[in-house]
Amino acid sequence: MKCPACGGTLSELKVGDLTVDVCRGGCGGIWFDEFELGHVDDQDEAAGESLLDIETDPLVKVDTKSHRRCPQCPEIVMQRHFYGPKRRVEIDECGKCGGIWLDAGELAAIRAEYKNQAEREQAVHDYAVDVLRDALARPALSARAGERKHLPVGSILRLLWRKR
Ligand SMILES: [Zn+2]
Ligand SMILES: [Zn+2]
Repeated sequence: MKCPACGGTLSELKVGDLTVDVCRGGCGGIWFDEFELGHVDDQDEAAGESLLDIETDPLVKVDTKSHRRCPQCPEIVMQRHFYGPKRRVEIDECGKCGGIWLDAGELAAIRAEYKNQAEREQAVHDYAVDVLRDALARPALSARAGERKHLPVGSILRLLWRKR
């Protein structure tokens, strides 16, 4: 597979029970098939540690703003959205195969957010409750002319389902 960020060639890397594809010696990004990222996204998931120091070529620069095509489904432009309720790390996700692309450094940032799965799930739950309470408490806001309050139900569901 071709790297969606720098065009290099991805190579397989085994981490625990997973085999992910990494841009080793290139931009250092990582490709996760659907549900794989959920196994290495918390600090207590030790397997993920070996993914934190992938060798990069300092001369390879990537444009993190450009939209990338899925390395598995070349016809699909991946969607960019925040991973997790803290909304700090933006990831690229393919709407067709569910794979996720992380640029170098993004996995470390994601893992720094929560110690374990229970903490992460609690945070997603609290975020969902907050968003829904907010939406229900202020119905007039969305009715105001020209203003549409976007309710991120899609991203909430995605966060809740990611681990299944
Ligand atoms: Zn690359
Ligand atoms: Zn895809």
